[in-house]
Amino acid sequence: MQRLVVFSLCLVACMAMESFDGYKVLRMEVTSEEHIEIISELDFDHELDFWDFPRDLMVPPHLLEFVQFYLKSNEINHVVWIEDVQAKIDAAVSEEPHIDVDGFDYYVYHNYSEIMVWVDSIVEAYPTLASTFSVGLSHEGRDLKCLKIGIDTGKTKRAIWFNGAIHAREWVSPATVMWMTNALLSNHTTGTDEDVTFLLESFDMYILPVMNPDGYEYSWTTNRMWRKTRTHHPGDLCYGTDPNRNFDYMWGGLGASNVSCASTYRGPHALSEVEVKNVVEFIRQQSQSQTFRLFIDYHSYSQMMLSTWGHTYDLPPDYDLMEEHMKIHTEAIHDAFGANYTYGPGSRILYPVSGGSRDWGYGDRGIPYSYTIELRDTGEHGFLLPEDQIYETAFENYRGLIAGLLHIEATPVRAQRHV
Ligand SMILES: [Zn+2]
Repeated sequence: MQRLVVFSLCLVACMAMESFDGYKVLRMEVTSEEHIEIISELDFDHELDFWDFPRDLMVPPHLLEFVQFYLKSNEINHVVWIEDVQAKIDAAVSEEPHIDVDGFDYYVYHNYSEIMVWVDSIVEAYPTLASTFSVGLSHEGRDLKCLKIGIDTGKTKRAIWFNGAIHAREWVSPATVMWMTNALLSNHTTGTDEDVTFLLESFDMYILPVMNPDGYEYSWTTNRMWRKTRTHHPGDLCYGTDPNRNFDYMWGGLGASNVSCASTYRGPHALSEVEVKNVVEFIRQQSQSQTFRLFIDYHSYSQMMLSTWGHTYDLPPDYDLMEEHMKIHTEAIHDAFGANYTYGPGSRILYPVSGGSRDWGYGDRGIPYSYTIELRDTGEHGFLLPEDQIYETAFENYRGLIAGLLHIEATPVRAQRHV
């Protein structure tokens, strides 16, 4: 009987999920600025979904002919990269239960409420090293619950920030953030890593595992491919704003759409998304008493470490420092399992983004090392990274974080610039 109830519940949940049967991901050969402009014309409809602009585009069956004709007539080569998105969705998540009775299972994906339980369990397990706090509520009222970890030295320490899941469907991002947090705490506690102890003494680390909880939950219950927030602003046709185009630094410029149905919709005004506003207000407030040295917004996918600027092709004043740090950080990633993460200013190695988190971190707050990290993979699975890759993704990024932080700690603070 119990089995039947579970089965029926699953049936209801499964039926509520939007299906991506027959949806394909096309990979386009982008070789010129003109190509990018032509391709960006496709970002007008929520059914045409850029997985990795301007290269990978998910297309529903009824628009396939139209898109292929559009690309062909504009002489843009492409291949069908993922044949059936639904098949990938079904394959990416194990059928095992998501709460392990023996403790938290880091090697499966977790929904929002499980992650909130995890936050509390970390404080319970490491009461002298970790505490929890909230930067506020999401649009739908979910707690933006954070962790602060570090060793209390009785002095004012420097600070770092990292977050996951600003984009809902990038599930390996919160999984990586949680794994790294636990590794920092447990490796210090067991005394297996002196570097970690040194770093926990040097920095207060502020960690928000799920920055866009409404979107994240929606990606679990309704639409696995959801990216944006879940707001619906007056006059807008579609739901959702891209929170990573909504920060109040150089908002509304290159690489941010004013069309509500676009995947990169910037919102009606800067900080229209309460999740972004809450994080901005917290870091602004906290940076009055502590100097933030590192800011990382973890995304997936494409294996990249992106620095400022996003909103312009110009290089920022401290690019020499960033380049040196990114080299060390990505080499440590590579040393773990051989994965290559490309690095450089986002606008130059990927595409321009305005109103993004890393530009805000550096431009508004003067945080010298302010990045977006795109986790695994390079597109074979895209957002649907199988759970058996969580460990390697998290471990290599942990190695990168440690090596990068040791370098930052050893680098003299450059006088704050007005940028
Ligand atoms: Zn993202």
